[in-house]
Amino acid sequence: ERIISGEADLQDLSFEQSLRPQTLKQYIGQDKVKENLEIFIKAARIREETLDHVLLYGPPGLGKTTLAAIIANEMGVNIRTTAGPAIERPGDLAAILTALEPGDVLFIDEIHRLPRSIEEVLYPAMEDFCLDIVIGKGPSARSVRLDLPPFTLVGATTRAGSLSAPLRDRFGVLSRLEYYSEEQLTDIVVRTAEVLDTGIDPKAAIEVARRSRGTPRIANRLLRRVRDFAQVKADGQIGETLAKEALELLQVDRLGLDHIDHKLLRGIIEKFRGGPVGLETIAATIGEEAHTIEDVYEPYLLQIGFLQRTPRGRIVTGLVYRHFQMEVPAD
Ligand code: ATP
Repeated sequence: ERIISGEADLQDLSFEQSLRPQTLKQYIGQDKVKENLEIFIKAARIREETLDHVLLYGPPGLGKTTLAAIIANEMGVNIRTTAGPAIERPGDLAAILTALEPGDVLFIDEIHRLPRSIEEVLYPAMEDFCLDIVIGKGPSARSVRLDLPPFTLVGATTRAGSLSAPLRDRFGVLSRLEYYSEEQLTDIVVRTAEVLDTGIDPKAAIEVARRSRGTPRIANRLLRRVRDFAQVKADGQIGETLAKEALELLQVDRLGLDHIDHKLLRGIIEKFRGGPVGLETIAATIGEEAHTIEDVYEPYLLQIGFLQRTPRGRIVTGLVYRHFQMEVPAD
């Protein structure tokens, strides 16, 4: 497991629950998304209607689950949580939908992984709040229409492009979550330290934020490890030098890159003279799956301008050479 992975591990899950902000006000960053949601939520509340269906998309760990819970909280309704791969048969979805209370939020994480047969059941549920279910088999089978309570579907996905067009079109609100700035992550680190009742020097908070790859989940995870270090090696207070030492030990460099990023970037430089090189070739060189590189390693490297995608493959930029203190080639 990479410490700088945006995906949640088991430890994160038990720990994150206590850290989740409860309101839009407490939710740091993502200003555009928040501003829109605030208006839509207010309007829905004034009209006493359910909120339109919301699709949240962006890399893992940026706060989609947190935001879904905040939407329910701000609407004053309950949230029911499930995930695309957990719904295998139309009956599973029917059971969830019929158990909702009017106005509830149904949160489907990894919604791009819903089987197509389930998507088709979801369309009328989203559009007209009804379910068409087939009762019986063979010639005696008949279709029955079931009314559902009005609800808001909040879908989350890391891959909006993998969603079928008919499903995507049924969301009234599409919100893309962006990587967080260093300042916003610093605020998140300070807030988490407060929740954990741990003293942290503002400069130490910046050190943690800087290495968090724009991702709150990683910031919280790094903070947790640094806090362990502070408790064992010092008096529990997180000072700047201690934070730097701990992060050094965790082998996360000052931009949040770990040995796998280094291997990938150095591989492109040393074996392919900086590229362009195809994704499959990179994958074979470093012994990883192409889709893992595309979904997990690459987005942040693209975001910080270390990698570029071209029609002929990936290239590393001059920034990478500088980061490794190598001479930048003339071309
Ligand atoms: P995944 O899709 O992988 O589950 P996610 O995008 O749903 O990830 P969350 O589980 O919502 O991510 O967030 C991860 C952690 O980061 C949570 O502990 C949450 O408290 C914290 N967090 C996320 N966004 C914010 C934010 N804007 N302000 C403060 N904390 C945040």
